[in-house]
Amino acid sequence: MSLRPSLTCTKCGKRHAPENPRQGCGECGGLLEYTLEPGSGPVSFSGPMTFWRYRPVLPRVTKTVTLGEGGTPLQRAKRLSESLGFENLYLKDETRNPTSSFKDRSAALIVSDAASRGYDSLICATNGNHGASVSAYAARVDIQCNLIVPKAVDLGKLAQMMMYDAKIVEAGDSIEEAIARAQRLEEEMGWYQATTELNPLSVEGLKTISYEIVEQRGVPDWVIVAMGSGATMHSIWKGFKEMEALGLTGEKPRVIGVQATGCSPIAGAYDKGLSEPEHGRGDTVASAIRVSEPIYGELALRALRESRGLAVTVSDEDMVSAGKDIAKYEGIFAEPASSAPVACLKLDHVRNAISAGDSVVCLVTSSGLKTDDILSSLTKHRKAPRLGSRLATKERILRIISQQPTHGYAIWKELSGEMTLGAVYQHLTDLEVRGLVTSTSEGKRKLLGVTERGRRVLKALDELQVLL
Ligand SMILES: [Zn+2]
Repeated sequence: MSLRPSLTCTKCGKRHAPENPRQGCGECGGLLEYTLEPGSGPVSFSGPMTFWRYRPVLPRVTKTVTLGEGGTPLQRAKRLSESLGFENLYLKDETRNPTSSFKDRSAALIVSDAASRGYDSLICATNGNHGASVSAYAARVDIQCNLIVPKAVDLGKLAQMMMYDAKIVEAGDSIEEAIARAQRLEEEMGWYQATTELNPLSVEGLKTISYEIVEQRGVPDWVIVAMGSGATMHSIWKGFKEMEALGLTGEKPRVIGVQATGCSPIAGAYDKGLSEPEHGRGDTVASAIRVSEPIYGELALRALRESRGLAVTVSDEDMVSAGKDIAKYEGIFAEPASSAPVACLKLDHVRNAISAGDSVVCLVTSSGLKTDDILSSLTKHRKAPRLGSRLATKERILRIISQQPTHGYAIWKELSGEMTLGAVYQHLTDLEVRGLVTSTSEGKRKLLGVTERGRRVLKALDELQVLL
């Protein structure tokens, strides 16, 4: 089995010669994609568990540009499952790719193709992760990387592009404006077009996620994916469909596409039974899925329908909160868009659709270390006293007593009524149990003093503060 050396229109079915991977059918304007040649032998995968293991189902490249992408863990999320009340929840951890995002799969294939065709410059419109990936791979083979980015790009992603030595031009407020500019520059300059929405190799790169999931645990009952342009949803679905067509699997999962409540042209259209995404601007903290004109929207809607899936929306707050859960329960630091699949597991209609015992894979696409919102909120936290408020209170009480022996009531007054008298007594009991405070009866009252151990603890805390 091998790939047909042509691109096929997803709308009218016309075949196009692949001199260069490009988007847009000359007949109808539909999106083009690679198709598999049926019946030319069984497909098998060999070699280490990396992206290039799936070479037999990828368009051929003569030069391979790699940074060790793919082969990411499919992690059983036991603690997260318990917190959400699901039994078989898995996270496909794409933050483990070389530039910490799933876009490394597309970038590896796209830059390999550019290098195979002998290009020395490429152009790429990007709202973050894809540009960071492409610039890294381009750096590896000395291809000049020209990036067009909208004004609002996450600082961490921009930092990656700069460090990988890309030439960066800011253009407009939206990814749509950046894409239009990249299209013009491709024509004017003759550069290789690496924009994910304009290069069908992008879908081929991303579909390998589905192949990996199947090799790692078989076909799950559900796969949940965040949707921006709709390309990821389409790619994941293409992967599962291909495997079934190749006889590698006997079934496909159902898919759930998640968008931000503030920007949901695909989910809105799915609910209304439309075959094309809705129009209109929107906003969300999840920059990776802030796409108001989703180029792959129609194909994402098709994937949702074919799989009898669901399209849902989650609020920014829910995404941020799910991101905290993924980190604290599973040790994976995801960006807000990547947390959307887990966030939707709290929605009633999602919970009702998924049966007990169903296996669910959430795609975690990219690292939270790249995003502004999470990092700035953490910086604010750090400025506030964060030594644990309970610990800080106990330390303060211990210091008050260390001045001179005193009573619980006097301590409460000294703390200016920040907490109830009962809470002060609870802290005192804890301190006494730990052997830091001692008490002697004075009629009905207890006179409190600091023990030798309590003084040693205070001294240690003083030394720690000098260090900090
Ligand atoms: Zn067409």
